[in-house]
Amino acid sequence: MRKAAFARCCKNGSQPGIPQCENCGNILRSGNIEYEHLDPDGLGGEPTLENCGVWCAVPCSSKKTREQDIPRMAKADAVLKASFGLKAEGRPMPGSRRSGFRKRMNGQVERRT
Ligand SMILES: [Zn+2]
Repeated sequence: MRKAAFARCCKNGSQPGIPQCENCGNILRSGNIEYEHLDPDGLGGEPTLENCGVWCAVPCSSKKTREQDIPRMAKADAVLKASFGLKAEGRPMPGSRRSGFRKRMNGQVERRT
């Protein structure tokens, strides 16, 4: 898949045969290539060739992640929580591993001689 995306970015740019960022068109250098999910992974973006952009890691990919994906995912997360009542965990459910752990800790304190 990445190979195919890479071949595409070499073919489609203004300079055939040279890998170019599919976002800004700059020539890609090794170490500065990012296979970007156009629809972010966290929002159900599929790992397909169509959803894979071959971008320069800096600045294109890092800029998109910072300015688009993170706020979008945070928003999606907030919507999920609001819609389904999923909130950050407060007290552990009775019988959960966390409450069990707490009990054992207390036992150790009581048993000291
Ligand atoms: Zn770029």
